[in-house]
Amino acid sequence: MSSHGSSTPTVAIIGGGQLARMMAQSAVALGVPLRLLAEADGVSAAQVVPDTLVGDYRDLDTLRKVTDGCAVVTFDHEHVPTEHLHALADDGHACRPGPEALVHAQDKAVMRERLTALDVPCPRHAVVEDAEAVERFAASVGGFPVVLKTTRGGYDGKGVWVVGSAEESADAFATAEATGVRILAEEKVDFRRELSALVARSPSGQVAAYPVVESVQRDGICWEVVAPAPDLAAGLAVEAQQIAMKVAGELGVTGILAVELFETQDGRVLVNELAMRPHNTGHWSMDGAVTGQFENHLRAVLDLPLGSPDARAPWTVMVNILGGDDARLAGDLYAGYPHALARDPRLKVHLYGKSVKPGRKVGHVTAYGDDLEEVRERALHAAAWFRGDLGEESE
Ligand code: ADP
Repeated sequence: MSSHGSSTPTVAIIGGGQLARMMAQSAVALGVPLRLLAEADGVSAAQVVPDTLVGDYRDLDTLRKVTDGCAVVTFDHEHVPTEHLHALADDGHACRPGPEALVHAQDKAVMRERLTALDVPCPRHAVVEDAEAVERFAASVGGFPVVLKTTRGGYDGKGVWVVGSAEESADAFATAEATGVRILAEEKVDFRRELSALVARSPSGQVAAYPVVESVQRDGICWEVVAPAPDLAAGLAVEAQQIAMKVAGELGVTGILAVELFETQDGRVLVNELAMRPHNTGHWSMDGAVTGQFENHLRAVLDLPLGSPDARAPWTVMVNILGGDDARLAGDLYAGYPHALARDPRLKVHLYGKSVKPGRKVGHVTAYGDDLEEVRERALHAAAWFRGDLGEESE
């Protein structure tokens, strides 16, 4: 028999990665039971959610089984097929976000079309069918290089090509052909840096907007996030937040929406892409904001009042821990604790229970305080230490 109160809803989470694992931390605090659909035994979130089913999120029967009796369905990733989400919604499940919203995080062509219709600033773009179309698109935006992207299925820079000529588009079209997706061409934005605007939105329409952050990418993977984005003009920060609130409202997003943006050299913001789930650029908020993104995601999908997204300190820096190539600590991140924790008692460490592979996100560290340079140094040092990139001499 459940020890939960009779009105306590169970939340189903589809996908067992680190985002589901960190949602579970907030669910524990709120006393909300979870049911998880994990892709395999022992994955990141399956380690911490007792009520876990292992199965394929592309199988509707499996989805029905895992969501049965759950008040709300939410997601660790955006890959559940749209038709299955519609089927779950038809069964009476509250999918948050719902299929109409989620398709904009699944398909970059659909997203570009919709945002453009809403007058949300985006890079110039076009769906291209072949190399000649790439040539014509390049001519229309002032020439090569241009960026080609698969409309679906890309992540962490996979499925993105910068091409200097139409001939170079062969790889992109081969991938598109093999996976049955389309190719979107975009002007190559000469950006100053990448920003991210996160909001939580509840079905009732309440919205909480986090401070706009700067995200630093390496090899297409988020490396470091600084909250708030240093030296961001107040007007641009407000514009970025307003874009995120507008997109969340117009698309009917429930839960966290992350809007990844380019800040251009000439002082504009353009939307790069959307994520409708807690996002790597929001991890800083777990320790650096009054209410972290995972807690606000759960509050939002349960249609509870949202928590304050305000920062706790003037500066927060989050750095991802990626598996290193020849990490001294490879496979044994725990061995990094004595030094990292002794050096910096104010450091916050999050490890995801994942095996270490080169380039894989296996955890993150967060530092916050009054002095940006000092805070950055602490976070970068700790992440490098866990990665195994620091020699004895730099301790
Ligand atoms: P993914 O879905 O793999 O995260 P993104 O669309 O975010 O792909 O692109 C990955 C990275 O490629 C971005 O973070 C950015 O650095 C670069 N990029 C993407 N689109 C453009 C563009 N139009 N102009 C310049 N750089 C781009």
